[in-house]
Amino acid sequence: GFRMGIVGLPNVGKSTLFNALTRTAAAQAANFPFCTIEPNVGEVNVPDARLDKLAGIAGSKQVIPARITFVDIAGLVRGASRGEGLGNQFLANIREVDAIAHVLRCFEDDDITHVEGRIDPVADAETIETELMLADIESIERRLANLSRRLRGGDKEALDQDRLLRAALEALEDGRPARTVQIAEDDLRQWRLLQLLTAKPVLFVCNVEESSAAEGNSQSARVAEMAAAQGAGHVVISARIEEELAQLPADEAEMFLDEMGLAEPGLNRLIRAGYTLLGLSTYFTVGPKETRAWTIPAGTLAPQAAGVIHGDFERGFIRAETIAYDDYVALGGEVGAKDAGKMRAEGKGYTVRDGDVLKFLHSG
Ligand code: GDP
Repeated sequence: GFRMGIVGLPNVGKSTLFNALTRTAAAQAANFPFCTIEPNVGEVNVPDARLDKLAGIAGSKQVIPARITFVDIAGLVRGASRGEGLGNQFLANIREVDAIAHVLRCFEDDDITHVEGRIDPVADAETIETELMLADIESIERRLANLSRRLRGGDKEALDQDRLLRAALEALEDGRPARTVQIAEDDLRQWRLLQLLTAKPVLFVCNVEESSAAEGNSQSARVAEMAAAQGAGHVVISARIEEELAQLPADEAEMFLDEMGLAEPGLNRLIRAGYTLLGLSTYFTVGPKETRAWTIPAGTLAPQAAGVIHGDFERGFIRAETIAYDDYVALGGEVGAKDAGKMRAEGKGYTVRDGDVLKFLHSG
Protein backbone atom coordinates (compact mmCIF):
# COMPACT_ATOMS: atom_id res chain seq x y z
CA GLY A 1 0.00 0.00 0.00
CA PHE A 2 0.92 3.67 -0.13
CA ARG A 3 2.76 5.06 2.83
CA MET A 4 3.04 8.58 4.14
CA GLY A 5 5.60 9.40 6.83
CA ILE A 6 4.82 12.02 9.49
CA VAL A 7 7.97 13.93 10.42
CA GLY A 8 8.75 17.10 12.35
CA LEU A 9 10.81 18.45 15.23
CA PRO A 10 9.92 17.26 18.75
CA ASN A 11 6.85 18.84 20.40
CA VAL A 12 5.22 20.09 17.22
CA GLY A 13 2.19 17.80 17.59
CA LYS A 14 3.12 14.73 15.51
CA SER A 15 1.94 12.14 18.03
CA THR A 16 -1.23 14.07 18.76
CA LEU A 17 -2.00 14.12 15.06
CA PHE A 18 -1.05 10.50 14.47
CA ASN A 19 -3.21 9.34 17.38
CA ALA A 20 -6.14 11.37 16.12
CA LEU A 21 -5.68 9.95 12.62
CA THR A 22 -5.66 6.37 13.73
CA ARG A 23 -8.35 6.63 16.39
CA THR A 24 -10.83 8.56 14.35
CA ALA A 25 -14.17 6.97 13.48
CA ALA A 26 -13.18 7.04 9.81
CA ALA A 27 -10.15 4.90 10.54
CA GLN A 28 -12.27 2.37 12.37
CA ALA A 29 -15.25 2.34 10.05
CA ALA A 30 -16.04 -0.18 7.33
CA ASN A 31 -14.84 -3.70 7.72
CA PHE A 32 -11.23 -2.95 8.29
CA PRO A 33 -10.83 -2.00 11.90
CA PHE A 34 -7.92 0.32 12.37
CA CYS A 35 -4.99 -2.00 12.49
CA THR A 36 -1.90 -1.20 14.40
CA ILE A 37 0.74 -2.79 12.26
CA GLU A 38 3.38 -1.40 14.56
CA PRO A 39 2.85 1.15 17.34
CA ASN A 40 3.75 3.94 14.95
CA VAL A 41 2.08 2.63 11.80
CA GLY A 42 -1.64 3.00 11.11
CA GLU A 43 -4.01 2.63 8.18
CA VAL A 44 -6.86 5.05 7.57
CA ASN A 45 -9.75 5.29 5.14
CA VAL A 46 -9.56 7.86 2.39
CA PRO A 47 -12.75 9.93 2.73
CA ASP A 48 -14.57 10.08 -0.60
CA ALA A 49 -18.18 11.29 -0.84
CA ARG A 50 -18.58 9.53 -4.21
CA LEU A 51 -18.61 6.13 -2.50
CA ASP A 52 -21.88 6.66 -0.63
CA LYS A 53 -23.45 8.16 -3.71
CA LEU A 54 -22.59 5.10 -5.82
CA ALA A 55 -23.58 2.68 -3.08
CA GLY A 56 -26.93 4.47 -2.71
CA ILE A 57 -27.71 4.10 -6.40
CA ALA A 58 -26.67 0.44 -6.57
CA GLY A 59 -28.17 -0.46 -3.20
CA SER A 60 -24.84 -1.93 -2.07
CA LYS A 61 -24.77 -3.66 1.30
CA GLN A 62 -21.22 -2.57 2.01
CA VAL A 63 -18.98 0.39 1.29
CA ILE A 64 -15.25 -0.17 1.29
CA PRO A 65 -13.11 2.95 1.02
CA ALA A 66 -9.52 3.19 -0.19
CA ARG A 67 -6.82 3.05 2.48
CA ILE A 68 -3.61 4.88 3.06
CA THR A 69 -0.89 4.12 5.62
CA PHE A 70 0.60 6.72 7.95
CA VAL A 71 3.89 6.19 9.75
CA ASP A 72 4.80 8.34 12.75
CA ILE A 73 8.53 8.87 12.31
CA ALA A 74 9.78 10.30 15.59
CA GLY A 75 13.27 11.35 16.44
CA LEU A 76 14.33 13.96 13.97
CA VAL A 77 16.49 16.58 15.61
CA ARG A 78 19.16 18.96 14.44
CA GLY A 79 22.20 16.77 13.75
CA ALA A 80 20.23 13.65 12.70
CA SER A 81 22.36 13.30 9.57
CA ARG A 82 25.39 12.97 11.90
CA GLY A 83 23.60 10.23 13.82
CA GLU A 84 22.20 12.38 16.63
CA GLY A 85 18.87 11.61 18.25
CA LEU A 86 17.48 8.56 16.55
CA GLY A 87 19.38 9.79 13.48
CA ASN A 88 20.08 6.76 11.36
CA GLN A 89 16.97 4.82 12.28
CA PHE A 90 14.94 7.88 11.43
CA LEU A 91 16.51 8.30 8.03
CA ALA A 92 15.98 4.61 7.23
CA ASN A 93 12.29 5.00 8.10
CA ILE A 94 11.93 7.97 5.79
CA ARG A 95 13.56 6.10 2.95
CA GLU A 96 10.70 3.60 3.07
CA VAL A 97 7.77 6.01 2.70
CA ASP A 98 6.32 7.32 -0.56
CA ALA A 99 5.75 10.88 0.67
CA ILE A 100 6.35 13.06 3.69
CA ALA A 101 3.86 14.96 5.85
CA HIS A 102 6.00 17.53 7.60
CA VAL A 103 4.30 18.85 10.75
CA LEU A 104 5.23 22.41 11.67
CA ARG A 105 4.44 24.10 14.95
CA CYS A 106 2.40 27.20 14.18
CA PHE A 107 0.72 27.46 17.61
CA GLU A 108 1.83 29.63 20.53
CA ASP A 109 1.76 27.98 23.95
CA ASP A 110 4.23 28.97 26.66
CA ASP A 111 3.60 25.69 28.47
CA ILE A 112 4.87 23.59 25.56
CA THR A 113 8.61 23.90 25.11
CA HIS A 114 9.87 24.57 21.60
CA VAL A 115 13.18 22.80 21.00
CA GLU A 116 14.63 25.91 19.38
CA GLY A 117 13.09 28.29 21.92
CA ARG A 118 10.97 30.26 19.43
CA ILE A 119 8.00 29.76 17.09
CA ASP A 120 9.26 29.90 13.52
CA PRO A 121 7.81 27.16 11.29
CA VAL A 122 9.74 28.30 8.21
CA ALA A 123 13.06 28.04 10.05
CA ASP A 124 11.96 24.66 11.49
CA ALA A 125 11.18 23.40 8.01
CA GLU A 126 14.66 24.44 6.92
CA THR A 127 16.25 22.70 9.90
CA ILE A 128 14.70 19.39 8.94
CA GLU A 129 15.22 19.86 5.22
CA THR A 130 18.89 20.59 5.89
CA GLU A 131 19.29 17.29 7.74
CA LEU A 132 17.64 15.44 4.89
CA MET A 133 19.78 17.22 2.29
CA LEU A 134 22.97 16.42 4.22
CA ALA A 135 21.92 12.78 4.43
CA ASP A 136 21.26 12.72 0.67
CA ILE A 137 24.63 14.30 -0.12
CA GLU A 138 26.41 11.74 2.00
CA SER A 139 24.57 8.82 0.42
CA ILE A 140 25.10 10.17 -3.10
CA GLU A 141 28.83 10.55 -2.56
CA ARG A 142 29.05 7.02 -1.24
CA ARG A 143 27.09 5.67 -4.19
CA LEU A 144 29.09 7.61 -6.77
CA ALA A 145 32.27 6.10 -5.37
CA ASN A 146 30.76 2.60 -5.56
CA LEU A 147 29.65 3.15 -9.15
CA SER A 148 33.05 4.05 -10.53
CA ARG A 149 34.11 0.46 -11.21
CA ARG A 150 30.89 -0.38 -13.09
CA LEU A 151 31.26 2.85 -15.07
CA ARG A 152 34.59 1.77 -16.44
CA GLY A 153 32.86 -1.38 -17.70
CA GLY A 154 30.43 0.85 -19.66
CA ASP A 155 27.39 -0.51 -17.76
CA LYS A 156 24.34 1.37 -19.13
CA GLU A 157 22.42 1.32 -15.85
CA ALA A 158 25.46 2.57 -13.97
CA LEU A 159 25.81 5.42 -16.47
CA ASP A 160 22.18 6.44 -15.92
CA GLN A 161 22.50 6.28 -12.16
CA ASP A 162 25.70 8.27 -12.26
CA ARG A 163 24.09 11.00 -14.36
CA LEU A 164 21.01 11.24 -12.11
CA LEU A 165 23.02 11.19 -8.91
CA ARG A 166 25.20 14.02 -10.20
CA ALA A 167 22.15 16.08 -11.14
CA ALA A 168 20.78 15.60 -7.63
CA LEU A 169 24.12 16.42 -6.07
CA GLU A 170 24.36 19.66 -8.01
CA ALA A 171 20.96 20.80 -6.70
CA LEU A 172 21.75 19.74 -3.14
CA GLU A 173 25.10 21.50 -3.11
CA ASP A 174 23.24 24.54 -4.32
CA GLY A 175 20.95 24.27 -1.27
CA ARG A 176 17.94 22.87 -3.14
CA PRO A 177 16.15 19.58 -2.40
CA ALA A 178 16.40 16.81 -5.01
CA ARG A 179 12.69 17.18 -5.86
CA THR A 180 13.52 20.47 -7.61
CA VAL A 181 15.48 18.57 -10.29
CA GLN A 182 13.54 18.18 -13.54
CA ILE A 183 13.50 14.50 -14.47
CA ALA A 184 12.71 13.28 -17.97
CA GLU A 185 9.88 10.77 -18.33
CA ASP A 186 12.34 8.04 -19.38
CA ASP A 187 14.41 8.51 -16.24
CA LEU A 188 11.58 8.46 -13.69
CA ARG A 189 11.83 4.78 -12.83
CA GLN A 190 15.55 4.90 -12.23
CA TRP A 191 15.17 8.17 -10.31
CA ARG A 192 12.64 6.65 -7.90
CA LEU A 193 14.91 3.68 -7.32
CA LEU A 194 17.54 6.08 -5.98
CA GLN A 195 15.19 6.70 -3.01
CA LEU A 196 16.62 10.09 -2.22
CA LEU A 197 15.01 11.57 0.89
CA THR A 198 14.57 15.04 -0.54
CA ALA A 199 13.13 13.73 -3.80
CA LYS A 200 9.97 12.60 -2.01
CA PRO A 201 6.91 14.81 -2.30
CA VAL A 202 6.27 16.94 0.80
CA LEU A 203 3.09 18.18 2.40
CA PHE A 204 3.55 20.82 5.08
CA VAL A 205 1.05 20.41 7.91
CA CYS A 206 0.56 23.64 9.86
CA ASN A 207 -0.50 22.82 13.41
CA VAL A 208 -2.30 25.97 14.59
CA GLU A 209 -4.11 26.85 17.84
CA GLU A 210 -7.77 25.89 18.09
CA SER A 211 -9.04 29.40 17.35
CA SER A 212 -7.16 29.50 14.03
CA ALA A 213 -8.26 26.11 12.74
CA ALA A 214 -10.66 27.58 10.18
CA GLU A 215 -8.60 30.48 8.83
CA GLY A 216 -5.00 29.72 9.78
CA ASN A 217 -2.71 32.31 11.40
CA SER A 218 0.22 34.51 10.40
CA GLN A 219 2.67 31.60 10.81
CA SER A 220 0.66 29.24 8.63
CA ALA A 221 0.43 32.00 6.02
CA ARG A 222 4.25 32.09 5.91
CA VAL A 223 4.32 28.31 5.47
CA ALA A 224 1.76 28.52 2.67
CA GLU A 225 4.03 30.96 0.86
CA MET A 226 7.08 28.73 1.31
CA ALA A 227 5.15 25.65 0.15
CA ALA A 228 3.96 27.41 -2.99
CA ALA A 229 7.50 28.54 -3.81
CA GLN A 230 8.75 24.93 -3.52
CA GLY A 231 5.91 23.26 -5.35
CA ALA A 232 4.95 21.49 -2.10
CA GLY A 233 1.46 21.17 -0.64
CA HIS A 234 0.20 22.51 2.69
CA VAL A 235 -2.79 22.06 5.00
CA VAL A 236 -3.85 23.97 8.12
CA ILE A 237 -4.98 21.80 11.00
CA SER A 238 -5.38 21.98 14.77
CA ALA A 239 -4.06 18.72 16.19
CA ARG A 240 -5.85 19.48 19.49
CA ILE A 241 -9.24 19.78 17.76
CA GLU A 242 -8.60 16.62 15.77
CA GLU A 243 -7.67 14.81 18.97
CA GLU A 244 -10.99 15.83 20.56
CA LEU A 245 -13.01 15.06 17.42
CA ALA A 246 -11.53 11.59 17.18
CA GLN A 247 -12.94 10.76 20.60
CA LEU A 248 -16.49 11.99 19.98
CA PRO A 249 -19.40 9.99 18.63
CA ALA A 250 -20.41 11.05 15.10
CA ASP A 251 -23.38 13.30 16.03
CA GLU A 252 -21.43 15.19 18.70
CA ALA A 253 -18.45 15.52 16.37
CA GLU A 254 -20.78 17.16 13.85
CA MET A 255 -21.95 19.74 16.41
CA PHE A 256 -18.41 20.40 17.56
CA LEU A 257 -17.29 21.02 13.95
CA ASP A 258 -20.15 23.48 13.49
CA GLU A 259 -19.15 25.38 16.62
CA MET A 260 -15.57 25.64 15.37
CA GLY A 261 -16.76 26.87 11.98
CA LEU A 262 -15.29 23.84 10.19
CA ALA A 263 -16.96 22.04 7.29
CA GLU A 264 -15.20 18.74 7.95
CA PRO A 265 -12.42 17.30 10.10
CA GLY A 266 -8.99 18.61 9.16
CA LEU A 267 -7.86 15.01 9.03
CA ASN A 268 -10.06 14.44 5.98
CA ARG A 269 -8.28 17.27 4.21
CA LEU A 270 -4.92 15.90 5.33
CA ILE A 271 -5.73 12.40 4.10
CA ARG A 272 -7.01 13.67 0.75
CA ALA A 273 -4.03 15.99 0.33
CA GLY A 274 -1.76 13.02 1.03
CA TYR A 275 -3.56 11.00 -1.59
CA THR A 276 -3.18 13.78 -4.16
CA LEU A 277 0.44 14.33 -3.21
CA LEU A 278 1.16 10.65 -3.79
CA GLY A 279 -0.22 11.02 -7.30
CA LEU A 280 -2.92 8.46 -6.61
CA SER A 281 -6.19 8.01 -8.33
CA THR A 282 -9.36 6.01 -7.57
CA TYR A 283 -11.61 3.72 -9.54
CA PHE A 284 -14.73 1.99 -8.27
CA THR A 285 -16.35 -1.40 -8.48
CA VAL A 286 -20.06 -1.17 -7.80
CA GLY A 287 -22.60 -3.90 -7.17
CA PRO A 288 -25.37 -5.00 -4.83
CA LYS A 289 -22.89 -6.68 -2.51
CA GLU A 290 -20.41 -3.85 -2.21
CA THR A 291 -19.19 -0.57 -3.58
CA ARG A 292 -15.46 -0.34 -3.30
CA ALA A 293 -12.72 2.19 -4.03
CA TRP A 294 -9.45 0.92 -5.49
CA THR A 295 -6.22 2.87 -5.47
CA ILE A 296 -3.89 3.13 -8.46
CA PRO A 297 -1.11 5.50 -9.42
CA ALA A 298 -2.54 8.12 -11.82
CA GLY A 299 -1.91 6.99 -15.41
CA THR A 300 -2.32 3.25 -14.77
CA LEU A 301 -3.52 1.12 -17.71
CA ALA A 302 -6.66 -1.03 -17.41
CA PRO A 303 -4.93 -4.44 -17.01
CA GLN A 304 -2.67 -3.19 -14.21
CA ALA A 305 -5.66 -1.52 -12.57
CA ALA A 306 -7.44 -4.89 -12.68
CA GLY A 307 -4.35 -6.45 -11.13
CA VAL A 308 -4.91 -4.43 -7.96
CA ILE A 309 -8.01 -6.58 -7.36
CA HIS A 310 -6.40 -9.85 -8.32
CA GLY A 311 -3.36 -10.96 -10.28
CA ASP A 312 -5.56 -13.25 -12.43
CA PHE A 313 -7.62 -10.26 -13.56
CA GLU A 314 -4.45 -8.71 -14.97
CA ARG A 315 -3.07 -11.90 -16.55
CA GLY A 316 -6.39 -12.87 -18.14
CA PHE A 317 -7.54 -9.34 -18.91
CA ILE A 318 -9.97 -9.12 -21.85
CA ARG A 319 -11.66 -5.76 -21.46
CA ALA A 320 -13.00 -3.25 -18.95
CA GLU A 321 -16.61 -2.10 -19.09
CA THR A 322 -16.30 1.51 -18.12
CA ILE A 323 -18.73 4.17 -16.95
CA ALA A 324 -17.50 7.60 -15.85
CA TYR A 325 -18.63 8.52 -12.33
CA ASP A 326 -20.65 11.54 -13.49
CA ASP A 327 -22.50 9.48 -16.11
CA TYR A 328 -23.20 6.72 -13.59
CA VAL A 329 -24.76 9.21 -11.18
CA ALA A 330 -26.58 11.35 -13.76
CA LEU A 331 -28.10 8.31 -15.48
CA GLY A 332 -29.12 6.57 -12.27
CA GLY A 333 -26.73 3.63 -12.45
CA GLU A 334 -25.43 0.93 -14.76
CA VAL A 335 -28.62 0.18 -16.69
CA GLY A 336 -29.34 3.86 -17.37
CA ALA A 337 -25.74 4.50 -18.41
CA LYS A 338 -25.77 1.47 -20.72
CA ASP A 339 -29.07 2.53 -22.34
CA ALA A 340 -27.67 6.00 -22.93
CA GLY A 341 -24.59 4.53 -24.60
CA LYS A 342 -22.33 5.69 -21.80
CA MET A 343 -20.90 2.29 -21.00
CA ARG A 344 -17.68 1.87 -22.97
CA ALA A 345 -15.73 -1.32 -23.64
CA GLU A 346 -12.07 -0.44 -23.12
CA GLY A 347 -9.07 -2.59 -23.98
CA LYS A 348 -5.50 -3.11 -22.81
CA GLY A 349 -4.31 0.34 -23.85
CA TYR A 350 -6.93 2.24 -21.84
CA THR A 351 -5.64 4.62 -19.17
CA VAL A 352 -8.02 4.43 -16.24
CA ARG A 353 -9.41 7.81 -15.18
CA ASP A 354 -10.15 8.95 -11.66
CA GLY A 355 -13.75 8.06 -10.80
CA ASP A 356 -14.23 5.36 -13.44
CA VAL A 357 -16.75 2.69 -12.49
CA LEU A 358 -15.21 -0.52 -13.84
CA LYS A 359 -16.16 -4.10 -14.45
CA PHE A 360 -13.40 -6.39 -15.67
CA LEU A 361 -13.87 -9.25 -18.09
CA HIS A 362 -11.10 -11.79 -17.84
CA SER A 363 -10.34 -15.35 -18.84
CA GLY A 364 -9.28 -18.10 -16.44
P1 GDP B 1 5.50 15.44 18.99
O1 GDP B 1 6.70 15.45 19.86
O2 GDP B 1 5.73 16.24 17.74
O3 GDP B 1 4.93 14.11 18.73
O4 GDP B 1 4.41 16.32 19.76
P2 GDP B 1 3.16 15.87 20.63
O5 GDP B 1 2.04 15.46 19.77
O6 GDP B 1 3.59 14.91 21.69
O7 GDP B 1 2.77 17.27 21.28
C1 GDP B 1 3.65 17.91 22.18
C2 GDP B 1 2.82 18.72 23.14
O8 GDP B 1 2.18 19.78 22.42
C3 GDP B 1 1.72 17.91 23.80
O9 GDP B 1 1.62 18.34 25.15
C4 GDP B 1 0.48 18.32 23.00
O10 GDP B 1 -0.70 18.24 23.80
C5 GDP B 1 0.79 19.75 22.64
N1 GDP B 1 0.09 20.17 21.43
C6 GDP B 1 -0.02 19.49 20.25
N2 GDP B 1 -0.75 20.20 19.37
C7 GDP B 1 -1.12 21.33 19.99
C8 GDP B 1 -1.91 22.46 19.62
O11 GDP B 1 -2.43 22.53 18.49
N3 GDP B 1 -2.06 23.45 20.55
C9 GDP B 1 -1.49 23.36 21.80
N4 GDP B 1 -1.67 24.37 22.65
N5 GDP B 1 -0.77 22.32 22.18
C10 GDP B 1 -0.58 21.31 21.30
